Amino acid sequence: MRHRIAVVGSGPAGLTFARVLHRHGHSVAVLERDPAPDARPPGGVLDLHEGLGQLALAKAGLLAEFQALSRPEGQALRILDTDGTVLRDWRPRPEDRANPEIDRGHLRDLLLGPLDVQWGRGVTQVVPGTREGVQVRFADGRQESFDFVVGADGAWSRVRPAVSSAAPRYTGVTSVETSLDDVDTRHPDLARLVGDGSMAVYGVNRALVAQRNSGGHVKVYAQFRAPLDRHTHLDPADAEAVRSSLLALFEGWADPVLDLLRHGTAFVRRPLCILPVSHTWTHVLGVTLLGDAAHLMPPLGAGANLAMLEGAELAESLAADPEDLDEAVRAFEERMWARAGKWAKITVAGLERLVSPDPAEALALFDQVQSS
Ligand SMILES: Cc1cc2nc3c(=O)[nH]c(=O)nc-3n(C[C@H](O)[C@H](O)[C@H](O)COP(=O)(O)OP(=O)(O)OC[C@H]3O[C@@H](n4cnc5c(N)ncnc54)[C@H](O)[C@@H]3O)c2cc1C
Repeated sequence: MRHRIAVVGSGPAGLTFARVLHRHGHSVAVLERDPAPDARPPGGVLDLHEGLGQLALAKAGLLAEFQALSRPEGQALRILDTDGTVLRDWRPRPEDRANPEIDRGHLRDLLLGPLDVQWGRGVTQVVPGTREGVQVRFADGRQESFDFVVGADGAWSRVRPAVSSAAPRYTGVTSVETSLDDVDTRHPDLARLVGDGSMAVYGVNRALVAQRNSGGHVKVYAQFRAPLDRHTHLDPADAEAVRSSLLALFEGWADPVLDLLRHGTAFVRRPLCILPVSHTWTHVLGVTLLGDAAHLMPPLGAGANLAMLEGAELAESLAADPEDLDEAVRAFEERMWARAGKWAKITVAGLERLVSPDPAEALALFDQVQSS
């Protein structure tokens, strides 16, 4: 390839972009802030949809390996009432491969493969239009220039300001995450409650979702509507204080459900933020965005899927060595905006219904999805 290309961020978007370019014989500088691949816990499972994340993996030549690593049984979903009554219990058919789950760490390692990521290279700013091309400035004071820079650096992107003044805003919903290890041996009742996939309980303006990961690990998400500054006085490292505040918030819910909070270990607080629905920008020569950097939306099963497909599609456009690289990027952006805008509307409306004053809305939403 004639161009010097860099991607900032080694999440699903950046790695898929780099891996598809690699498959076509092109190299790209992958600039990642984390000092090592396992510098922080990789997060919970992702379900990858047939026409999105799985399509991206096919473009990277990794679909067969994904199928071997993923867990189709993880598509199971059980919905309980706050008193513990099972309201719905959907199980996938054995041949159902529409949305299998994969641990984030497994997906990262699969995508990393032969890629040579530059770890510990936190980017602070990207300046397009300099004499040398697009200048990338790093936290350690160094700088480097490229012909084309892709911002795949997530929600709080440092590349985004080069193309757009948009910033994430709070949705009104906070999620507090905890997890349990070795559930099958240490908490067999909870293992049965959660099943092979996910279990969810919806109450008034709050929800509790538990998801099985591989190796008997269960991630629990307690979600609730609250002002952004609620709970900021709680030190997340003080697990007992966070636990008591959550147990007070979910008071009256069935004991087995609350046991998920009672036995949870570390707690992480995540106010859910989003970019404006249908976020677009005036095209800037030499810079674009992918994934959450471009279209942060509520975490309802679309973000990583879109990020990966965008990474794969942009890489394919560049690998075709277009006469006019800039024109190819403009065309890609139009496609990305149209698709992401549609999903942003769906997920924003979905969050309104899932964490809502009327828990029947959540059930109605799942019934609709299951019957579609
Ligand atoms: C609880 C939860 C569950 C979810 N479940 C699903 C699901 O089932 N399916 C789905 O499709 N989506 C899901 N999502 C959404 C999904 O996680 C994101 O949309 C996806 O990770 C976005 O990928 P990305 O590559 O754009 O950004 P990220 O995954 O955020 O990766 C960004 C990368 O950039 C690096 N970085 C950040 N800043 C800098 C910097 N300044 N310099 C260099 N590097 C930097 C970061 O360290 C990181 O490695 C979920 C999200 C959450 C919070």
